[in-house]
Amino acid sequence: MNEGLDNKMEFRHIRPTAMRAIVLKLMMEKTAATSLPELENELESADKATLYRTLKTFEQNKLIHRINDGSGTLKYALCKDSCDCDVEDQHIHFHCTKCNGTFCLNDISIPKVILPSGFSLSGIDTVVNGVCSNCNNDA
Ligand SMILES: [Zn+2]
Ligand SMILES: [Zn+2]
Ligand SMILES: [Zn+2]
Repeated sequence: MNEGLDNKMEFRHIRPTAMRAIVLKLMMEKTAATSLPELENELESADKATLYRTLKTFEQNKLIHRINDGSGTLKYALCKDSCDCDVEDQHIHFHCTKCNGTFCLNDISIPKVILPSGFSLSGIDTVVNGVCSNCNNDA
């Protein structure tokens, strides 16, 4: 039943466990990025430290990427299979100011950033703010 999930984890060299499968399944069902507090809410019986470590493992193995959308809570979204989490793989994110949802705009990559000499890059957070289609339809 969890074969698809297990394959997805094995592809990223993650040893499948029951908890990892649960978290991955939840994340695959969502259209928006998720956060640790959100996972804690939805998986009330799960051990918080285990949840945290699960996200860390997923992130280190490039199954998910971290998003800083300026809301004060770090969010996580699934990586595409081709993603290496390099600067070239990064994309713009959309943050909805109504529902606080954050979405990957996978097709819009981040422009090349040329830094002055002596500067080095550790990451880019590009977030576009607006109202998502769900919230626009609520009106
Ligand atoms: Zn990635
Ligand atoms: Zn919204
Ligand atoms: Zn993303």
